[in-house]
Amino acid sequence: MFWADKIAKEIIASGKHKPYWVDDMKTPSGRVHVGALLGVVIHDLVFRALKDTGADVVYTYVFENHDPMDDIPSYLPREKFEKYLGMPLFAIPSPVDGYENFAQYYALEFKQAFNSIGSHPKILWTKDLYTSGKMNKSIKLILDNASEVRKIYQEMYKKEIADDWYPFQVFCETCGKVSTTRVYHWDGENVHYTCTVDAVAWTKGCGYEGKTSPFSDDKGMKGKMPWKVEWAAKWQAIGVTVEGAGKDHMSRGGSHDLASLIAERVLNYPVPYPVGYEFMLIGGKKMSSSKGRGFAAADIVTILPPELVRFLIVRMNIRQQTNFDPSDGDTVPRLFDDYQECARHYFEDKTDDEARIFELSQVDGVKKPPSIRFSTLAQWVQMPNMEFAIKDQGLEEWAQYARIWVERFASDSERFIIQENTPSAAKDLSEQQKKFLHAVVDLLHTTSDAESFQKEIYLKAKEMDISSKEAFSSIYIALLGKSSGPKAGWLILSLDKEFVQKRFKSL
Ligand SMILES: [Zn+2]
Repeated sequence: MFWADKIAKEIIASGKHKPYWVDDMKTPSGRVHVGALLGVVIHDLVFRALKDTGADVVYTYVFENHDPMDDIPSYLPREKFEKYLGMPLFAIPSPVDGYENFAQYYALEFKQAFNSIGSHPKILWTKDLYTSGKMNKSIKLILDNASEVRKIYQEMYKKEIADDWYPFQVFCETCGKVSTTRVYHWDGENVHYTCTVDAVAWTKGCGYEGKTSPFSDDKGMKGKMPWKVEWAAKWQAIGVTVEGAGKDHMSRGGSHDLASLIAERVLNYPVPYPVGYEFMLIGGKKMSSSKGRGFAAADIVTILPPELVRFLIVRMNIRQQTNFDPSDGDTVPRLFDDYQECARHYFEDKTDDEARIFELSQVDGVKKPPSIRFSTLAQWVQMPNMEFAIKDQGLEEWAQYARIWVERFASDSERFIIQENTPSAAKDLSEQQKKFLHAVVDLLHTTSDAESFQKEIYLKAKEMDISSKEAFSSIYIALLGKSSGPKAGWLILSLDKEFVQKRFKSL
């Protein structure tokens, strides 16, 4: 059984996670890395698996637009954004005109990426959760039970927590920063806080000292909880019953463990079913957006068709770290091969995991993939005069990705260019190879079918007692200037006959 169906079955059987409410989240502090798509799709799959059982289920995605900017992405001008460090992302201007704020710009770029691969959770914003008053119940519980929260931190991290530390950070009423404030007293109505000048190394507080109600309302947001505590509060505020995260948060002693203790011991809210998953690595390195390494989510949807991006995640083993490096050999062509294989299972009405993986990889209804291998298509797009065949066989969509792959990721052995002038390497062809090429010219008019032409070439070589290796390499050397290339029958027929004739005869 496919893993998401197994999880759905387990969730239903436990009877502990009703009503079914799946949720995932992300802080849009810059271009969102492709790794964050994993969370979206994995939660989406559990959502769909639950839905496929006939259950009522909701899927929400929370953009944490209230988190502070704690670093400036390398692709933005530091001098323009430095003054916003420590302020919530919703209060920082968008780097591009036409968006309400910084968080919205990057959140919508990411949303577009996951929408394009068929995931459509309902979008929520943390600021709205706070200002709608939904978080206030949890905030009161957290502050009233601050000593229990401290105890949980102490147990988990084995370090002393000061008695005057409170799990709440005010948005400074003077400078607007949140990273610099520290609450030292809760009187049941107001939190008393300081905006400490040297609270963090990367930005300065204003030194203000005051008190304010911690409860946000429609007039504005007053402050936030530390995110691990807030994670639990968010479960309660929304009513989340299914939510996990990548293994950095889900490992023993990680943030999920802390959030769970807060939920159980402070908020009295049942911990949602935890969907945990391993990472997918690009080029062997953990995909990380903060260092600008690897792809952004918005980039991967430009190099693979939407259903293939989805397939890449759907078929991954969520219990095992996987690797996807599009520039590594035939990684991309193999992905397409595997996709076609799963499609075969689906269209043969099999009920195995492959068929289910294909079904769950579909983006806008079930679409039968082309039957041509991607590796062949990658050769076709490099041949002249193949446009008609590509169009005729309905291969334009995949062809566009084949071109991208050839340009950006294929190794030199997979790339070829028809040489306009006779390549210098052709000088070294043997007399027998030249004779063979002349003989191929005589075959040019025998057929226009590439498959049979390929056979003709092969038989001719045999007849002339020249090894097929020598025979075919002479064709590649004469046309491409290198000793290997795509299937010669297809290559030659894709070219202008007179051109081939002239080239082969000249040797
Ligand atoms: Zn301040």
